[in-house]
Amino acid sequence: MTLMLSGIGASRGIAIGKAHVIERGQPEIPEYQLLPDQIDNEVIRFQQAITTASQQLESIRERIPAHTPADIATFIDTHLLMLRDSALSEAPARIIRERQCNAEWAIRLQLDSLVQVFDEMDDPYLKTRKDDVIHVGNRILRVLLNQETQAHAAEVLLEGAIVIADDLTPADTILLQHQHIGAFVTEYGGPMSHTAIMARSLNIPAVLGVHHAREYLRNEEQLIVDGSQGVIIADPDKRTLKHYQKKQKKERRYLTSLRKLTRAPAMTLDGAAVSLQANIELPGDMDDARKANAAGIGLYRTEFLFMNRNGLPDEEEQYQAYRHMLESLPDRPVTIRTLDLGADKSTDGHDGGAPPTNPALGLRAIRLCLRDPGLFKPQLRAILRASAHGKCRLMIPMLSNTQELFQVLCLIEEIRHELREEGHAFDPEMPIGGMIEVPAAAISADAFAQHLDFLSIGTNDLIQYTLAIDRIDDEVNYLFDPLHPAVLHLIHHVITAGQRNGIPVSMCGEMAGDIRYTRLLLGLGLREFSMQSTRLLEVKSIINKTRLSDLEDGIRRILDCQHSDITAALVEDLNHS
Ligand code: PEP
Ligand code: MG
Repeated sequence: MTLMLSGIGASRGIAIGKAHVIERGQPEIPEYQLLPDQIDNEVIRFQQAITTASQQLESIRERIPAHTPADIATFIDTHLLMLRDSALSEAPARIIRERQCNAEWAIRLQLDSLVQVFDEMDDPYLKTRKDDVIHVGNRILRVLLNQETQAHAAEVLLEGAIVIADDLTPADTILLQHQHIGAFVTEYGGPMSHTAIMARSLNIPAVLGVHHAREYLRNEEQLIVDGSQGVIIADPDKRTLKHYQKKQKKERRYLTSLRKLTRAPAMTLDGAAVSLQANIELPGDMDDARKANAAGIGLYRTEFLFMNRNGLPDEEEQYQAYRHMLESLPDRPVTIRTLDLGADKSTDGHDGGAPPTNPALGLRAIRLCLRDPGLFKPQLRAILRASAHGKCRLMIPMLSNTQELFQVLCLIEEIRHELREEGHAFDPEMPIGGMIEVPAAAISADAFAQHLDFLSIGTNDLIQYTLAIDRIDDEVNYLFDPLHPAVLHLIHHVITAGQRNGIPVSMCGEMAGDIRYTRLLLGLGLREFSMQSTRLLEVKSIINKTRLSDLEDGIRRILDCQHSDITAALVEDLNHS
C-alpha cells in the first residue's frame, strides 16, 4: 500500500529506488553463567566470531571500488587492526574464563572498560577513536548473536539504493557516495548540518528529520524520494511513479540547460561583476569547481582531511594536499579555512556515551586550535608553505573576539620567521581573512576588518547563533530563518563594514547558494558568493537576469521591515520583479 512520509528536504533531486534500511542500534546482550565444562567451548565460539568478523571486513575491503580514496580503505584497515589487538581478541577470552560468563557478556564488559579509557583521554581526536572500538565490538557481537550484519555504509553494494538510517555522520556520507547510492533519508538532522551540506555538494538527494522512518519503511520496497519537497513515497502506484519519472527527467533537462552558462561571466544587467566561487570539502571536489568554472575556492573545509582515518595528517601531508589543490587551480584564489573541528564534525554520534553539553558553543574551530598548538601549528606551517605555489588565502573560522585574531596573527608571524630561518618559500603577502559567523563578530565587523584582508560571512552558523537554534536539531528547524530581520541586519552590517574598510566581503554559508536569496544579497551589496559547485550555474542564471537599480526600492523596504513573514513576501517580490 502506498505510504507517504515527509521530512526536511535537505538536498534536492528525485531518486527512485529500493529501500535499504540501516539498523545501527545497540545489540541486546544476554548474560548467563556457564558450567565449568562449557567454558572451553565458549572460548572457541568467541575465537570463531573474531575470525568471522575479520573475514567480513576483509571481504568489504576487497569490494571497495578501485577509484575510492585511500582513506576509505584505511578506515577498514583500522577496524581490522583493532580486531587483531589483544584488547579485543584476547581479553574477552580471559573474562569468559574468570567470570564463567558467556562470550557476549565478556565482550560487553571489555567494551565498557575500553570506552572508559577513551573517555578519560584529553585528546579530542583520540576520543573519537572510541567510536571505532564500539563499531568493531558490535560487529563481533552481531556475529555471536547470529544477527545479520546490517549494511554499514561500506558493507554491501548500494548502487542506486535509498538508504534509510537513524542518523548519518559526514564521514558516513562520504562512504555512501562511493557506493553511488540514490538518496538518503534520516530520522534526525537538519538542513544546515554538515551531513546535509555534504549531500548537497555530492549531489545526493536527501530528506532528513523523518521521525520513525525505519519503522514505516521496509527493506527492498520501492521508494520515491523528492529531496526538494522533503517527501518520501513508499510502494507508489503506477500513476505516481510515472509522475515522478517525468519530474525527474524535467529536472535533469533543466540542469543540462544551465550548462551553457558555464563560460558566461557572472554579471548583472547593469554591468556589476560578481565573483562566484566554490566551497569544497575534499581535494577531489576541485574537479567539480573547475567544471562549473568557479572563479576560485571561497571555502575549503580542511577538517575533512582529518576524518575517516587513523592518526592526524602531519605538516608534510597537509602541505602536499594544499599545494596540489593550489597547483590544480593556478590562476584563481583558493581559500583554505583552518580546522573547524568540533560540534557535528568531531564525533559520529553513535558512541552511546553522553554527548557533550552544547557542543556548538564549546571548544570548536579556532578555540580548539588555539588551545592545541600541536594541532594548529603544523596546519598553519603547511598552508604558508603551500602559499608559494598559487593564489593561497587563509581563513580563520568562528572568531568571536579580536584577541583570538591577534593570537592567530602572532602565531602566523612566528611561523613566517621560522620558515625564513629554515629556508622554506612562502607568499609573504598571502591574504588572511576571517569568518564572520558569531553575532558578536558581526556586530564588531569593523574591528575585524581593520586587521584582516577579507571577511567571509558564514550564514549557517551566524543564523544558528543569532536565533539560538541548533543547526542539526530538526525539532527547532522551523525557526531557522535566513530572512529574520536580525540576520539580514547583521549581514548588511558586515557587508558595509567591508566597504568602509576597503576589504572584500564574501559569503560562504548555504544562503549564498540558494537562488531564493540571490537578488536579496546582491541588493544588500554582496559581490562575492561561495557555494557548492552544483549551485553555481543556477545562481549565475539569476544574477545575469538581474538589474541592481531595480532592487533598490525593495531592499530599502526589506531593511525597514521588522517581521520576517513580511520580509519573505518582499523578497518574493524582488524575485519576481
Ligand atoms: C557557515 O557556518 O556558514 C560555514 C560556511 O561554515 P560551516 O558550515 O563549515 O560551519
Ligand atoms: Mg561555520
